[in-house]
Amino acid sequence: MTRELRDATPGLAPDRAPETFTSLNPRTGQVLAEYPVADEADVAGAVERARGAARWWDAQGFRGRRDWLLEFKKAIAADAEDLARVVSAETGKPHDDALLEVMLAVEHLDWAARNAKKVLRARRVSPGLVSANQSATLGYHPLGVVGVIGPWNYPVYTPMGSISYALAAGNAIVFKPSELTPGVGKWLEARWNALAPTQPVLQVITGLGATGAALCRAGVDKIAFTGSGPTARKVMAVCAETLTPLVAECGGKDAMLVAEDADLDKAVEFAAFGAFGNAGQTCAGVERIYVAEPVYQQFLDKLTSAVDRVRPGGTDADTYGPMTLPRQADVVRNHIADALDKGARAVIGGIDSVHERFVDPVILTDVPESSSAVCEETFGPTVVVNRVRDLEEGIERANATSYGLGASVFTRNRSRGRDIAQRLRAGMVSVNSVLGFAGVPSLPFGGSGESGFGRIHGADGLREFSRPKAVTVERFSAPLKLMTLERSVRDMRVSAWMLKTRHGR
Ligand code: NAD
Repeated sequence: MTRELRDATPGLAPDRAPETFTSLNPRTGQVLAEYPVADEADVAGAVERARGAARWWDAQGFRGRRDWLLEFKKAIAADAEDLARVVSAETGKPHDDALLEVMLAVEHLDWAARNAKKVLRARRVSPGLVSANQSATLGYHPLGVVGVIGPWNYPVYTPMGSISYALAAGNAIVFKPSELTPGVGKWLEARWNALAPTQPVLQVITGLGATGAALCRAGVDKIAFTGSGPTARKVMAVCAETLTPLVAECGGKDAMLVAEDADLDKAVEFAAFGAFGNAGQTCAGVERIYVAEPVYQQFLDKLTSAVDRVRPGGTDADTYGPMTLPRQADVVRNHIADALDKGARAVIGGIDSVHERFVDPVILTDVPESSSAVCEETFGPTVVVNRVRDLEEGIERANATSYGLGASVFTRNRSRGRDIAQRLRAGMVSVNSVLGFAGVPSLPFGGSGESGFGRIHGADGLREFSRPKAVTVERFSAPLKLMTLERSVRDMRVSAWMLKTRHGR
């Protein structure tokens, strides 16, 4: 590890030679850079520095933080091409995809900065009849220091979904990016440090899983974790040791429903994007498609010809890049094999589509609902297209997995689409698009079951990183003296009468 690298990592003591790990170019396997593995002492140091910065950050108030965050946003947006270059190098996704990711992240940062005051400032609430002598105030205070643990698939958009909202709510951040995308984390930290070099409000520590676990143990006030369900279980177990609260954004097995009245060309275009974009490595990507019987064959034919034009590869002109995590190709292969073994048909591709780094698109149909390609997150460029009698059956099947992240519905009847959206057991649903919710900063993002719990984005995302503060101030003495050890018979009689009159009839 180089001296510069160690010096550029504030969590590391300069006199120690820590272990390192390398980030790789997933297109070729070549080394991109080397990063230090932060150990427990490094993490503790970062959290301690964050405590100091959190006090300064809290003192800035809503207005001050808004101004700082809008400057931060400007710094990111002005250099977006450079950030996209780092994202593309570490994930293998085409440059344009990386740039769109940065664009979305910036929109969220902007919204969080501008709306934190409106959502979190102290406000008077009704005290109710029984406590009419009290003035009641509700406000939201920062938690303090939030530990953010990120994944690699959207290394800007995903962690910034926690970081932006947690910062806007007044917290300092210690961020552990995925070991596959440490450069993205360091890039973001460097932009913050260029704005406020003496206030480490956003620090990045690099390392593997053990560094993430050390962050969970470091006494932070909340962990915002994004990653797989199995890792979330480990994170939750470690957080339990110190009662550290957790928001967990995990995987999905998102279903798309296509009604008999759907605009099929549109549904196909979105299906191809949702299933194959980013090589299928999207938590809320389309993994299952349930098509109403009358349009099933037509939809499948159209999707097949659209996917014929899809080209994976290592250049920016290709549709999508390699598997960022090479061993994910094994999961993809196993899911395809299991589906075929159980009687599914491959309409495009098959087992041989899975190469060492790249996976060609695969469309499977007639896939038994018990197969892993239907029940478990595949996270690759494969999609299951199954026919259903009607959308009633589609809803039932869509709801039948243990995941509950996103979903989409295609129908020309928008009010029917809205109705179906309510019946899908998913945190987010798009009607006549896919991932429509991801670009709306005022909407909360998150799921249930195997997809995790808690919310980022929107007002709920701001509150997720806040501590509600309830205050009452007595305005005048209560007409009935009930909070005393010497209640009068009269006051109790009136209270009993009120109870019956107000609630007992
Ligand atoms: P992962 O679970 O392997 O790793 C996520 C992060 O956890 C990494 O930073 C990793 O170093 C860290 N980690 C690993 N072991 C740990 C431990 N014991 N304690 C603390 N931290 C530990 O996930 P990944 O492969 O990086 O990302 C892919 C997964 O993320 C997919 O399942 C995808 O669906 C999910 N994801 C979800 C969302 C969402 O918002 N719901 C968004 C993007 C990705």
